[in-house]
Amino acid sequence: MFATYFHPHTCQTSKAINLISFVGYSFPHYNHIRQEIAKKITIYPSLPVKKVKYSEYLRVHSHEYLQKLVFKALGKELNESMRSLPPLSIECEGLEYCLPGYVYGLGGIFAAIDEMKKVSLERAYCFSLVGHHAHKDWGHGYCLLNPLAAATKYAQSQGFHKILIIDWDIHHGDGTQSIFSYDHSVYCISIHSAVDIYMAKASDLNYGTTTMAEKVGHCNIPLISESITPDIITQIGLDGKFYRGHESLSKFRNALENLPWHPDLIFIFSGYDSHRDDCGKGITNWTNRDFQELTKYVLDLAKKIPCPVISTHGGGYQTPVTISAALSHIEILANYK
Ligand SMILES: [Zn+2]
Repeated sequence: MFATYFHPHTCQTSKAINLISFVGYSFPHYNHIRQEIAKKITIYPSLPVKKVKYSEYLRVHSHEYLQKLVFKALGKELNESMRSLPPLSIECEGLEYCLPGYVYGLGGIFAAIDEMKKVSLERAYCFSLVGHHAHKDWGHGYCLLNPLAAATKYAQSQGFHKILIIDWDIHHGDGTQSIFSYDHSVYCISIHSAVDIYMAKASDLNYGTTTMAEKVGHCNIPLISESITPDIITQIGLDGKFYRGHESLSKFRNALENLPWHPDLIFIFSGYDSHRDDCGKGITNWTNRDFQELTKYVLDLAKKIPCPVISTHGGGYQTPVTISAALSHIEILANYK
């Protein structure tokens, strides 16, 4: 009742990889991580390769935006309405050539949902290019499209009406939150660093506060390192509640105990950059064991309801740390009774 989806198709590009210029920890990094994890999870059954139409992304992105990405990939001149969209950040450079991978990545999550509808699958771990920073018509932080958000809409069309999205990547899931703002059928819990390096402006950091989450109908658990004092937070212009790393697990558990309703399906955006040996140092201080604890909390809830769980691979920059943390999470996801 557990399956994975880590096919190379999820990293297919429309142009040879060596001819594309990427910035920082972009596509080549994710492709490498995918390959390394795929080698280690062959003991588990795999969902078959599934490709969906690019237009499935219309469920959460605008027509102009999707067209803009295609035009960019084809080297065509953008029209007026495409040019008027918010600009993509520098980390998204080159990702327009990864649209083939994005449709296979979304296909995998759809495949898991289809099996769950038939009650022949209970849990899945899927790879797709990361998306939690992708909004309706723009993206940043290596996220061009939001597969998890599009899959949420698809799942709802298949009868999974109420959906819980959990995001434990160190960065706030701002794109997902904005797509589902004021949507009472989807509830997002994001636990993240309050001071996010991918958010250059304090006004953007505000999206990750408890105040903003309460306003738009979701739950944020912003964490601050021991070295940050309340006056620094005030100076940056942030308001709401903030938490320290040692409180993180209990706050997360508390959020799961206070959902607005029982979900029909749970998604996890499983980022491992929140590991203490990656960006989580001094903030979450999480180890592999903590990722296992987080996973158990979610599965305890899922068993009680009961409802299926789809975890999707998120961020993580230190390669060996990301791989071992992902394997720790998968071990529990696959075997926890
Ligand atoms: Zn991240």
